[in-house]
Amino acid sequence: MFSVKTTSLKAILLLGSAIVISSCGSSKYAATEKIYKEKTKEFAKIITSTPPVGQLYDTLNPTNQQWIGSVNFGVRKPNFVILHHTAQDSLAQTVKTFHSTRAGTSAHYVVSRDGKVVQMVNDYLRSNHAGVSKWGKDTDLNSSSIGIELDNNGTTDIWTDAQINSLIKLLTTLKKKYNIPTANFIGHSDIAPKRKPDPNKFPWKKLALKGFGFWYNDILKNPPANFDTTNALKLMGYDTSDIGATITAFKRHFIQTDITPKLTPVDILVLYNVYTKY
Ligand SMILES: [Zn+2]
Repeated sequence: MFSVKTTSLKAILLLGSAIVISSCGSSKYAATEKIYKEKTKEFAKIITSTPPVGQLYDTLNPTNQQWIGSVNFGVRKPNFVILHHTAQDSLAQTVKTFHSTRAGTSAHYVVSRDGKVVQMVNDYLRSNHAGVSKWGKDTDLNSSSIGIELDNNGTTDIWTDAQINSLIKLLTTLKKKYNIPTANFIGHSDIAPKRKPDPNKFPWKKLALKGFGFWYNDILKNPPANFDTTNALKLMGYDTSDIGATITAFKRHFIQTDITPKLTPVDILVLYNVYTKY
């Protein structure tokens, strides 16, 4: 009797664990979704704490300060969009990478070659896509931008219409929703010229014609005699601490057929024209 009871108890326990396993296994991404939810809960705790922990009382003299919450505020919004190529072979491979804590990287969106858009981080949160980067005086692009990865292994200039059309739809939504300036749609190589080549051979002109980033005019005027190319690149936003890398990044974006770290007379005409738009 006793042994029968034990057996049935074991059976119930086994059944219970089977149900738990099947509910966890009902989604391929259950484990990573759980981690995402836990992390956002931690951030919610930070946001809802009053007074905010470590922002006032921990660092200054508490007798000379006070927390009084305002009633007028909102969440911070992204002001840039940074485009990347994944340098991987498929959407599935990129999703796997963005689930690897060892890789430590992510993006808000991944756009696949067939036009499917996968969101992986809430727009209001900081994804790890930009790394060490600089644009103008902004040295924390991860905090100020939306990162979009385009599934492309980086060796081809073939971008499918489905992928670019989905990207344009996504950019249209983001630009309108967060009021992102036209100039602020740029590439990873623009903000990290010493480190990153992506997106490579990218149809920037097509995007610029839709209002995302700038492109040069068909007719180019000569710059004034005192035109300073390094200063122009700097005023556009480029980090000019390694001017060769900066010129290559500029040419990767606007010239594409040649990315040698020297400005030809035609490159200078293009630079002068786009610089006046930024
Ligand atoms: Zn990148």
